[in-house]
Amino acid sequence: MRLFQGYTSFADISLPKYPMQPPAPPHKNIVHMDMDTFFVSVERLHDASLVGKPVIVGGHSERGVVASCSYETRIHGVHAGMGIKQAKRLCPEAIIVSGRYESYSEMSAQVQAVVAANAPVYEFASIDEFYCDLTGTERYFGSYKLAGDIRQKIIAQTKLPISMGHATTKTTAKIATGTAKPSGQREVPHGTEAAFLAPLGIQKIPGVGEKTVPLLRAIGVRTIGDAQQRSPEQLQAVLGKYGPVLWEKAWGVHVSELAHDWERKSIGAEETFDTDTTDRKALKALLLTLTEKILFRLRAEGKLAGCVTVKFRYTNFETHSRQGRIPYSSQDVAVYDAACALFDDAYDGVAPLRLVGVSVSQLIEETEQLNLFVDAATQRKLHRALDGIKARYGRRAIFRAEGMQAHERGNNKDDRGWSDAADAIDVYG
Ligand SMILES: [Mg+2]
Repeated sequence: MRLFQGYTSFADISLPKYPMQPPAPPHKNIVHMDMDTFFVSVERLHDASLVGKPVIVGGHSERGVVASCSYETRIHGVHAGMGIKQAKRLCPEAIIVSGRYESYSEMSAQVQAVVAANAPVYEFASIDEFYCDLTGTERYFGSYKLAGDIRQKIIAQTKLPISMGHATTKTTAKIATGTAKPSGQREVPHGTEAAFLAPLGIQKIPGVGEKTVPLLRAIGVRTIGDAQQRSPEQLQAVLGKYGPVLWEKAWGVHVSELAHDWERKSIGAEETFDTDTTDRKALKALLLTLTEKILFRLRAEGKLAGCVTVKFRYTNFETHSRQGRIPYSSQDVAVYDAACALFDDAYDGVAPLRLVGVSVSQLIEETEQLNLFVDAATQRKLHRALDGIKARYGRRAIFRAEGMQAHERGNNKDDRGWSDAADAIDVYG
């Protein structure tokens, strides 16, 4: 048998010489919950005739894509991200519904309200999925019971199916949720993580996808248990620095903290005027430039925002702010419109202002699922093109005409004064 140069036998590639003992799992109670076929479930609330039928939410057009699909279609091989054409071929009887994005954001907000009222620490990862850290609650309630109660409250509030996993890390909890679907819940008790994970396919680990699976197959890793039997170095050899992370995830010991301050985390910018003003047009022009600035940053981070806050300060330093929810978005126009509505609502135009500011919060990952709405995709292409120009030629290279006034003022100003304000963009909280 011909061997690759440098190896004395195949055993060197696939088997560890010194099997490593993984560290003990952390003493934490992490809960993951995920709405089942979220968009489809919301559509079924609106139209009961869809219940029990194969349903796809996605674009109708030739190049439309599946955003969400019911279990009745999944058994035919349909999955999210697949082209509608192919999905129709696999499941011709599927009913295709175009999405109503605002309704999904609204439902997500209802879920969030229940979670916020019942869990000490939580983080929304995407529109239909969140984590809670219930560590410390076990002494009083039993944290698995508390998690189950939260799940039942969500079901009672929304009438939507949701599944739940309870474990000692985020990754293990998320995998447990996957095994509990649909409409189920599962606990992975402390100390049983490795045994729970071992028989599952390696692609059950979030982040292991089309690119990674073949690389792992090449070294004989098909199940999570196979990955446990490799050393971190062996996984590093094929996956780079993700290798050791995967090894920890395979053993259920990869600790990743929840964003404890998820609700307070925001991206914002504000600016003080040279001369206090009541000129609504000028104030809005500035709101627009500030919005463009913060959303450039939001998109660069791959996030969507669910909440907009506008703030303004009178000459006497009295400061007001107004906050409102929006359907999750990273689009300038959506956030600017919301900012203007909040501003118009709160500012009477009588006393002059010395400062205005805008910020976005309730930030979630921009997942592929949300990207599949065709309109949003067109907007996104536009933003990507504009952001590319801004990244290359500077923020002032291109902006919307309405913001011209503010930009010109900025240009005329001592450049440092302006860029200080521009750089006030910050993630805080
Ligand atoms: Mg889901």
